Amino acid sequence: MRHPTPKATRHVNQNEGLIFEKSSPGKAAWKLPPLDVPEIDTKALLGSCERKDLGHMPEVSEIEIIRHFTRLSTWNYAIDLGMYPLGSCTMKYNPRVNEAAARVEGIANAHPYQPERISQGALRIIKTLSEFLIEITGLDAITLQPAAGAHGELTGLLLIRAHHQAEGKPRKKILIPDSAHGTNPATAAMVGYAVENLKSDSRGTVDIAALESQMNENVAALMLTNPNTLGVFEQEIHSIADILHAKGGLLYMDGANMNALVGKVRPGDFGVDLMHLNLHKTFSTPHGGGGPGSGPVAVRKMLEPFLPKPVVVTKPDGTLAFDYDRPKSVGRVRAFYGNFGMFVRALAYIQANGPDGLRQTTEDAVLNANYIRKGLEGSYDLPYSTPTMHEVVFSDKLQTKKGVRTTDIAKRLIDYGFHPYTMAFPLIVPGALMIEPTESESKEEMDLFVEAMKSIAAEVEEDPQTVLEAPHCTRVSRLDETAAARNPVLRWKPKV
Ligand SMILES: *Cc1c(COP(=O)(O)O)cnc(C)c1O
Repeated sequence: MRHPTPKATRHVNQNEGLIFEKSSPGKAAWKLPPLDVPEIDTKALLGSCERKDLGHMPEVSEIEIIRHFTRLSTWNYAIDLGMYPLGSCTMKYNPRVNEAAARVEGIANAHPYQPERISQGALRIIKTLSEFLIEITGLDAITLQPAAGAHGELTGLLLIRAHHQAEGKPRKKILIPDSAHGTNPATAAMVGYAVENLKSDSRGTVDIAALESQMNENVAALMLTNPNTLGVFEQEIHSIADILHAKGGLLYMDGANMNALVGKVRPGDFGVDLMHLNLHKTFSTPHGGGGPGSGPVAVRKMLEPFLPKPVVVTKPDGTLAFDYDRPKSVGRVRAFYGNFGMFVRALAYIQANGPDGLRQTTEDAVLNANYIRKGLEGSYDLPYSTPTMHEVVFSDKLQTKKGVRTTDIAKRLIDYGFHPYTMAFPLIVPGALMIEPTESESKEEMDLFVEAMKSIAAEVEEDPQTVLEAPHCTRVSRLDETAAARNPVLRWKPKV
């Protein structure tokens, strides 16, 4: 336990005023040498644009600024501080070798408008990463343009729509299991499809009989996450693909959980027609505040003509070029070529690990999730006993008897020095605690986590109030989350 008895510190309990109002007249963090060139006539230069009122800039010394921002940085949690067990998000370590690669001068300073002739290295990075991801997914072609997973879903559904339109048979419906991530139905609705819910069976996987009865010629595709959001592998995936294909539908895979599959099985081999990857999940590029994300979409051959343009092609002389002449393309989905800096990082990760390393990563991710499952079984209710892949979903059923819910347990976990797990998702588990350690965590870190979670379970029995009022060691405790979302205050404003 990192904070067995939470204690307030000077950085936590000072009042707002002392922390943010540091300005006093006349202080400055800079000092310029005397002017040794003629003074510019700013009036003539700027005219009416000259700014006279500096808007109450704080007047502070250098050390005050340094301490202020350093202190603020310690109020955030980060993967560089400890385990980040957000299920479904795959919050793995972002290796420093990725950053070194992304900062190589020619890469970091590449400009999207520079001519192809002097962009061959950048084009090679796009092409090489594309080839690796095609190999990993077992599909035939790919676009790296989408900026995140949900954007990949949007791109994928545009491709599905274009495919059915080209066949002369536009379709109206998308089937989505009740365990799906909320972005799936939202994306389908955005593209103009009606969403039909598909219920899960007692194992937590697709109910084959339900799929058979709901599948018809009006269904464009099934959007399926595999392993699904319970961390359970869809063992009937071949039959699922056959049922769809028999009636002309496509199988879209939400690849957010690829951390359980890379190097072991390939979606293209089990019937998937197209899928997105989340480079910021599976391929170790920064996730969250640091972003940006990247959500490549890999497809089967028949969907290739519809991919966003431009695509990278090899010219007869062996050099690489962007091909914009793609008459069937759904068009651009993103400015330029996507989040290029993330391609560099993902490529560094893939190359640093190699095929054996990637396979080992997958095995370790699954092993870690099962280690945590074993450690917490008994302390928390496990609604589905189906084997766990890379993440495990418990429920708060045992704790609700004392009036404590998943949110309260998550808040208390903050006091123990961990980022909360994913709460209340997937929806098919009431009061879900969704935990994904990833391969990054050591046995020692996971033991600390299990110990913290068991300690909270004991607190719920003995002193539920402590858990209900958590967190106790953060600068602010429970926030009005609706107000924070609806009326965000995103920057400091001077008191005038
Ligand atoms: C993360 C996630 C998404 C959305 O991906 P973003 O990159 O956050 O847009 C979709 N589905 C599942 C299952 C996810 O875990």
